[in-house]
Amino acid sequence: MLIAPEEYPRRVKPTEKAQRIRDLTRRHNEWFKESIPLIASENFVSPVAKEVMNSDLHNRYAEGRPGKRYYQGNIYVDDIESACENLAREVFKCRFADVRPVSGTVANMAVLMALTKPGDKITAVSLSDGGHLSHAKMGALGLRGLRAHNYPFDQKGMNIDPEGAIRLLREVKPKVALFGQSVYLFPTPLEELRSTLDDLGCTVWYDAAHVLGLIAGNRFQNPFVEGVDVVSGSTHKTLPGPQHGILLSDLTKEDLELSLRKGVFPGVTSNHHLHSVAALAITLAEAKEFGEAYADQTIRNAKALAQALFERGLDVLCEPKGFTESHTLVVDVEEHRGGAAVAKALEGANIIVNKNLLPWDTDPVHPSGIRIGSQEVTRLGMKEKDMASIAGSIARIVMDGDAPAAVLPEVKEFKKEFTKSHYCFFEGAEAYDYPSCDVNM
Ligand SMILES: *Cc1c(COP(=O)(O)O)cnc(C)c1O
Repeated sequence: MLIAPEEYPRRVKPTEKAQRIRDLTRRHNEWFKESIPLIASENFVSPVAKEVMNSDLHNRYAEGRPGKRYYQGNIYVDDIESACENLAREVFKCRFADVRPVSGTVANMAVLMALTKPGDKITAVSLSDGGHLSHAKMGALGLRGLRAHNYPFDQKGMNIDPEGAIRLLREVKPKVALFGQSVYLFPTPLEELRSTLDDLGCTVWYDAAHVLGLIAGNRFQNPFVEGVDVVSGSTHKTLPGPQHGILLSDLTKEDLELSLRKGVFPGVTSNHHLHSVAALAITLAEAKEFGEAYADQTIRNAKALAQALFERGLDVLCEPKGFTESHTLVVDVEEHRGGAAVAKALEGANIIVNKNLLPWDTDPVHPSGIRIGSQEVTRLGMKEKDMASIAGSIARIVMDGDAPAAVLPEVKEFKKEFTKSHYCFFEGAEAYDYPSCDVNM
């Protein structure tokens, strides 16, 4: 129902400072509408997920578990949260889900709270080999006071070296063995490590932040089939949901359920962002319907983009292994002034990627690579032939030295066709629309 402006009880216009924020937000939105989003950790929510995110749920508090709350007002929230947990268990085929962590890092902190004590030993992938900040001493591992050891890494194959990892595990005897990466090209060799991990009896933790949407679509290793005890993740990278976190388990160890629940609350959350829980439930319901087709096309697009860039002369890593088995590809651009300069130049043509450390980099502030993800452009409806167009625009800047401003018009023109949501309910709805207060003014 529209109310005529003169009927507004009090029409107070935003102050200049508030208006400036609205304008900046609009400009950001317009910019992304005209850009090619290739950050491997990003995505956008579906029309229905966006609808529930904009609801009154955003204003409310819930602490504890459905049916056992500390606040009133959670009658519908309880149903939403229970349904979200059930959907997560269905999609990931496991017995336990906790949908309350408010991000992937918070989910990781909950696991650390549940499974470790200060001084315990943990094994993980190092930052330069593609590990995440929360797997490092400078991040959550340090906050928990853990002693961290990094797996030997096969730089050519861009994966954990299984033999080296077995030696390390036997020597360190960690309380927890952590796997999963932020530069995640190939599945972790869990099968090769299985008997060692079983012998040691350590808890096996798999951080699926990047690949959760591929796992949901059955197109990446299933950590539960491969004997993992706990899975943590972000829900907004390849899983195209709200910015939030999740914990999953098949409850292979005794008492795991209770300690994980306590790790989440009261461990590392109080309120758990109820609008995001509702949006996550929608995202999971959509993953059940469209998850396989989406994950399939995402991986095809990553391979096609890698191949097209390689054919244009870019140094895409792991050509002999087919470049990637996920949504991510990595390009060594050291010859072309390094990751920072290349990422900046591409941004000038509305092509959004990030600079990234490569395993052989020695200077952490001078990454020699860029990381590219195909998941968001896949959701925008792009296919293999469109990857060739993107590669062409990237190559003009990186290989031919064309000025970003000279490439910008073709990028904007190309993107016009790709502004709608796919692999979701109400497929074809505009991806970049959002509600405005101005409709009545
Ligand atoms: C992104 C990422 C996280 C953290 O996720 P946030 O939701 O940003 O807190 C954790 N682990 C890995 C491997 C990641 O890539």
